[in-house]
Amino acid sequence: MLEHDVLIVGAGLAGMRAAVAAHERGANVAVISKVHPVRSHSNAAQGGINAALTDRGDDWTDHAFDTVKGSDYLADQDAIEVMCSEAGDDIISLEHMGVIFNRDEKGHLGTRAFGGQQKARTFFVADFTGQAILHVLYEQLMESKVKVYEEWFVLSLIIEDGECCGVTAIEMATGRVYVIRAKTVIMCTGGVGRLFEPSTNGLIVTGDGMALAYRAGAPLMDMEMIQYHPTTLKGSGVLITEGARGEGAYLLNKSGDRFMEKYAPNMMELASRDVVSRAGQTEINEGRGIDGCVLLDCRHLGEKLIKERLTEILSIGRDFAGIDIIKEPIPIRPGMHYIMGGIKSDIDGKTSIPGLYATGECACVSVHGGNRLGANSLLDTVVFGRRAGHHAAEVSKQMEYKKFDVTSQIKKAEMDLQKLLDRDNVGERWANVRTDLGVEIDKHFGVFRTESGMQSLKESLTGFKARYDNCSVQDKGRIFNTDLIFTLELGYMLDCAEAITLSGIERKESRGAHSRIDYPQRDDDNWLKHVLVTKTAEGPLLTHLPVTITSWEPQERKY
Ligand SMILES: Cc1cc2nc3c(=O)[nH]c(=O)nc-3n(C[C@H](O)[C@H](O)[C@H](O)COP(=O)(O)OP(=O)(O)OC[C@H]3O[C@@H](n4cnc5c(N)ncnc54)[C@H](O)[C@@H]3O)c2cc1C
Repeated sequence: MLEHDVLIVGAGLAGMRAAVAAHERGANVAVISKVHPVRSHSNAAQGGINAALTDRGDDWTDHAFDTVKGSDYLADQDAIEVMCSEAGDDIISLEHMGVIFNRDEKGHLGTRAFGGQQKARTFFVADFTGQAILHVLYEQLMESKVKVYEEWFVLSLIIEDGECCGVTAIEMATGRVYVIRAKTVIMCTGGVGRLFEPSTNGLIVTGDGMALAYRAGAPLMDMEMIQYHPTTLKGSGVLITEGARGEGAYLLNKSGDRFMEKYAPNMMELASRDVVSRAGQTEINEGRGIDGCVLLDCRHLGEKLIKERLTEILSIGRDFAGIDIIKEPIPIRPGMHYIMGGIKSDIDGKTSIPGLYATGECACVSVHGGNRLGANSLLDTVVFGRRAGHHAAEVSKQMEYKKFDVTSQIKKAEMDLQKLLDRDNVGERWANVRTDLGVEIDKHFGVFRTESGMQSLKESLTGFKARYDNCSVQDKGRIFNTDLIFTLELGYMLDCAEAITLSGIERKESRGAHSRIDYPQRDDDNWLKHVLVTKTAEGPLLTHLPVTITSWEPQERKY
């Protein structure tokens, strides 16, 4: 019998940070991941990680205010206070573990400016910060000898008497189904970027954990809050880091004007992401773009700076667009990047289901509200990953393993898989359905939204579900059956699509990333509250929760 005090689903930054923390507290910990840990999407994070260090003349309360304002006042301020006040210690401990952050001229940890913030407080490793941190955490994980179920795919959460007590999972190398029993399970499964086409996210980012928790009865919160990043590469949608604008790059329209002057005269290119994305999209929509794009100009930054600090996007420009960013402006457009919503959880990662925790991008604590500040997500993963790991380890010490019928759990999971494999080969392929779904949701749930667009998306989801039920898995084997895995992922994506669409229709105002042409104003009287979706036997149930305000009353938001 496979069993662990703390079972962590996901080996990105949130999962690995949680694992290291739970191990420190003496728990028997395991991590399960559908890919090798360092292939998790956290690896792709470019620009950096925020913290206000007092000895740098910064103050965590300023970071907290910038985060509250960035969220368009939807984030819970008590959670933001925890994240921002603990950020400094987490950065220093990452440094002590071995992350080689860039230095300033004096040899101290260096910072760069990032959007929506009054001070330069983003710590970075060139423009591959995620990779640098992820590899250091992986070293810690290996040193701790925490068990890693590598290339295992979670099929379901096991809920017994309302408590989460493990998972069913398929070992991809053999196709065998297992139950892993656990006193506590922490979901660290990342976002749902690939529900949209294009997206800056890796192909593995398919919302599995949100869908698993949703199916198990945990509410998803703020799911309408989808972040479109202002600068994604024409065509492929690959991310061009905000670090470029942090280093001083300009946004230009077809006449060569720095159009941000009109939209955010003070912060210009470094206004918060929702504001810059709306500006870029408006330029494109009103005919001042070039071929569906605007331009990001790095030329004046000079070859030396670009090669030292923006090396990743230098190669991205060359490899994905055939341009030399030292000599040419980059054609970019706003593109899907991040989900602020997720499994509703608290500052220790606890969800509404006892024994089930969630942290990282799959969770909604909520610290990002309507719009996440760049470089606050890596911070979210390490602060709340650590807290969830500690909490789950302590709780597990007081618990016994729950008894349940393991054989019937395995049988049920096996039967569900067999049903998919037994379909004949006349149905559709998952890939076509997934692409069509991504294009449709990008069309109706992009930078600007309307009631009619979202309603038509809701209707088309019924069609997509029917197509999904008709998908055939042509590989009938058991060993590394990616055909089967990708089909299962599509099922998870459809659940997330449902929650996103319903939440979007529900919120009848514009706030943060949820910008509605039919309700263009923020409406604090009626909508200063969270939208939650819970799966019930009668269908999805929409409810609300108040926003926690501590120090910062909502104000008009200007940059
Ligand atoms: C291109 C890009 C650049 C970014 N740059 C920055 C930045 O500079 N600063 C910043 O703050 N944020 C940035 N972000 C956002 C940030 O990187 C992510 O929000 C964060 O890394 C998510 O970490 P995570 O640990 O929650 O999830 P992930 O790193 O996505 O990890 C998810 C894990 O879950 C596992 N998993 C998922 N489903 C299953 C399943 N069914 N069974 C088993 N395992 C499963 C996966 O194998 C993986 O290990 C960026 C994002 C992207 C896409």
